[in-house]
Amino acid sequence: MRLSRYFLPVLKENPSEAQIVSHRYMLRAGMIKQSAAGIYSWLPLGFKVLKKIETIVHEEQMRAGHIPMLMPTLQSADLWKESGRYDDYGQEMLRISDRHGRDMLYGPTNEELITDIFRSHVGSYKDLPLTLYHIQWKFRDEIRPRFGVMRGREFYMKDGYNFDLTKEDALHAYNRHLVSYLRSYERMGLQAIPMRADGGPIGGDYTHEFLVLADTGESEVFYDSAVTDLTFGDREIDYDSVEQCQGVLEEFTSKYARTDETHDEALFNEVPEARRRVARGIEVGQIFYFGTKYSEALGANVQGPDGKQSPVHMGSHGIGVSRLLGAIIEASHDDKGIIWPEGVTPFHCGIVNLKQGDDEADAACESLYQALTAVGLEPLYDDRKERAGGKFATMDLIGLPWRITVGPRGLKNGVVELTSRRSGESEELSPEAAVQKIVEIYANHQTGRGF
Ligand code: ATP
Ligand code: MG
Repeated sequence: MRLSRYFLPVLKENPSEAQIVSHRYMLRAGMIKQSAAGIYSWLPLGFKVLKKIETIVHEEQMRAGHIPMLMPTLQSADLWKESGRYDDYGQEMLRISDRHGRDMLYGPTNEELITDIFRSHVGSYKDLPLTLYHIQWKFRDEIRPRFGVMRGREFYMKDGYNFDLTKEDALHAYNRHLVSYLRSYERMGLQAIPMRADGGPIGGDYTHEFLVLADTGESEVFYDSAVTDLTFGDREIDYDSVEQCQGVLEEFTSKYARTDETHDEALFNEVPEARRRVARGIEVGQIFYFGTKYSEALGANVQGPDGKQSPVHMGSHGIGVSRLLGAIIEASHDDKGIIWPEGVTPFHCGIVNLKQGDDEADAACESLYQALTAVGLEPLYDDRKERAGGKFATMDLIGLPWRITVGPRGLKNGVVELTSRRSGESEELSPEAAVQKIVEIYANHQTGRGF
């Protein structure tokens, strides 16, 4: 993309409504624009990152054997009346009536709808196990929408639902989700720690929230610092293997890590004092096994091998796709702007022309642009007639992890400058070597072409 032809409405001033850094930078970098409280338009740069995050989530869900689909944002109230949640949900649910006076709602989640699909089409254990998921906008009329996309009213969420014959099978689905979530967050350059969370009215041990540590997080968390040493990395996993998935769950949940809702001071005190941490975290996902709560309410039964009918065992599993943009920025920025991890960066590399209009500099930038595009990468070429300082400030703000700077002086010696946004370090290389280096960097990151 050439910046002169793109739409990147960067703001010079700090927007006064933004209380936290991610919100501030998303507004300043022209990624979002508020349409109403907690509701945003996603401008091109924000949309690009949103789609990259969504793609990672899709790829990791499908890798785990979960099946993508799409349910609508608007739902009929009938199913919610059947499950009893129409009255329970309260004011967070946006209720609408259509021209015929029928009760509708903007879905805050989809347990009812998916259970209805299941009961309409599946009746036998032979069709199990089954995990269906979608990534769709949700609406929750939050009492205090704030922090930009972190706590919106309209937000983008991946929600998946497993259907299994037995509790054991459903717990395997739970473990599969835990593994696939760990992989997803790591690909986004994030550490999200599974922490034992509150089971709400359903209770039990079978819910974990994934938290990104950040001072601006809304949850108070208590953990053994040893959990922060764990990484999933690029190990192979067989998602069909009960032992392997269970092993990962045990590895990642055996150390003390809890949100304030489930915090147990006595247990926490068993952690060696030097490793006890009290901090804040951003919830970027939650997994949940809830048994037969919805299948009983909605009559979703399956026939077992013995011919007997029983309610199907279910769980639901969510990732806050739009919140993740905020979480990533909270975890990765400096005083100049965002620092995107390679896995989600909107453009792979910036090209800054120090002297637009100089034949040699223009030609060198053009050929770098072509070379990077030819290998499937997406450069953002700042080809505007602007001062170098302004170009650098924009690149730093929007946070591309790599920048190639091209100027007449370097070109005389046959070099351009390659700069890491994260470390600030630069090296002089021939244009070919710079392209080669960018190619190598991204060879280790499965990152697709953006929108
Ligand atoms: P919270 O406690 O933050 O209100 P929740 O526990 O009610 O979230 P879930 O139902 O678990 O949310 O939804 C799954 C994920 O969706 C959450 O982990 C979070 O990342 C994201 N999410 C929930 N509410 C919002 C919101 N208002 N804005 C943006 N993302 C949200
Ligand atoms: Mg939650």
